[in-house]
Amino acid sequence: MQQISHFIDGNYVEGKSGRSADVFNPATGEVQAQVPLANSDELNAAIASAKAAQPAWAAVNPQNRARVMMKFVSLLQRDMDKLAEALSREHGKTIPDAKGDIQRGLEVAEFCIGAPHLLKGEFTEGAGPGIDMHSVRQPLGVVAGITPFNFPAMIPMWKFCPAIVCGNAFILKPSERDPSVPNMLAELMKEAGLPDGILQVVHGDKEAVDCLLDHEDIMAVGFVGSTPIAEYVYTRGCANGKRVQCFGGAKNHMIIMPDADMDQAADALIGAGYGAAGERCMAVSVAVPVGEETADRLMEKLTPRVENLKIAPYTAGDDADFGPLVTQDAYNRVKGYVDAGVKEGANLVVDGRDFSMQGYENGYFIGGCLFDNVTKDMSIYKEEIFGPVLSVVRAQNYEEGIDLAMSHEYGNGVAIYTRDGDTARDFANRINIGMVGVNVPIPVPLAYYTFGGWKRSGFGDLNQHGPDAFKFYTRTKTITSRWPSGIKEGAEFSIPTMN
Ligand code: NAD
Repeated sequence: MQQISHFIDGNYVEGKSGRSADVFNPATGEVQAQVPLANSDELNAAIASAKAAQPAWAAVNPQNRARVMMKFVSLLQRDMDKLAEALSREHGKTIPDAKGDIQRGLEVAEFCIGAPHLLKGEFTEGAGPGIDMHSVRQPLGVVAGITPFNFPAMIPMWKFCPAIVCGNAFILKPSERDPSVPNMLAELMKEAGLPDGILQVVHGDKEAVDCLLDHEDIMAVGFVGSTPIAEYVYTRGCANGKRVQCFGGAKNHMIIMPDADMDQAADALIGAGYGAAGERCMAVSVAVPVGEETADRLMEKLTPRVENLKIAPYTAGDDADFGPLVTQDAYNRVKGYVDAGVKEGANLVVDGRDFSMQGYENGYFIGGCLFDNVTKDMSIYKEEIFGPVLSVVRAQNYEEGIDLAMSHEYGNGVAIYTRDGDTARDFANRINIGMVGVNVPIPVPLAYYTFGGWKRSGFGDLNQHGPDAFKFYTRTKTITSRWPSGIKEGAEFSIPTMN
């Protein structure tokens, strides 16, 4: 049985707590590895060595810190196939999806190459008589990231790339369900020239998270995961005086107006609703056709597409729509929601519950499910399912459609499909949701914009990656100066040389 290790001080270190978790192959249901769950002694040691290493790293000039990111990008490209295979083996997503996961993280690393520019302060000449004022951006010290299972490459990179290039040391506590890729990323950062101790990967569960939240040397915590845990991490981290940003769950709506291109909308819903088995925080899980006729046309196009989705393990080739869910628990939860939807009176038009993958009967495969006539009071509408299940809620008019999305407790992503510019503009302007798509189903911002949900999808005032990340991982110091004159009367004037 493969034993996964922590990555501390530039080396693989075996777990000492005596506690571990099984890591499954979602396609076969077999336990393929064990990951250690760190205790507070192990966390304290990792934090202490990060703290000792951080000042020297902060003293490296921004250009040279950026050069580590440059090299890291090229190493990610070199190892893309290897990383994707390891990712799919533990997560279950298809190889093209796994490569997308790595690529979107790589793009954040690319953005971080701009650190010398992004970290510049400001300067005002003559703020007072003989007085100038300037600001500098300084790293916080040791910061931590706690990440979910569904993007085991991209989300760790959202967190550690900006934090590290800003001059911080970083403790990554990745998901215990797919822990191998985070270790591989840390190894690549070391190969790229990152000094030991600046990126530590410590595996664990609640015990490790609580230790990070309570430790006085952890200056900031970035979390991505489900909303109840996001709220818990935010509350506990803030109570301990830390800078905290937490991103949580989602229920992303797509409004389909009567004038939308229905083929395009159906296509979008297949990719955004079922891709990666719906295990994406930007998945569309609610389709809102406006008007009965629009709804009927949409259902006519969607139903055969959902019935014919191709489901396969990642090893079967690259043309599958999606693979298995991540664990047996995830499978039970998703199936439980579909059962609940039927009980609550929604119309289950496509039932994927009995899907079985030939040769992989113990894997966590479930077929695509499509519900029609879902209403606001049903649990399948209110709660995040995180599986290949799309709920169609019929709205009578545009106002009812926009109101539905606006009154939902989650506010991660949303989309509208329409050919009318006024409707699109009104929608983008009024909607109270962080990431908006107009004729784009999964409006994931690129690395140079920020990524973050509103309402109960995001806690804290700054978003992830993009310029916000550079603010989150640094603090500003403002210096007011009357420049001391080193020139004494009668002294010879000389210009210092740069050597
Ligand atoms: P999760 O909340 O179960 O786990 C996230 C992290 O929290 C993991 O590292 C886990 O070990 C840790 N954790 C779990 N239980 C804990 C507890 N009781 N106390 C402290 N820490 C705990 O989430 P998940 O199932 O890994 O990921 C899926 C969720 O993440 C979905 O809700 C999805 O919408 C969300 N997500 C959000 C975004 C975003 O940017 N908003 C992006 C990706 C995923």
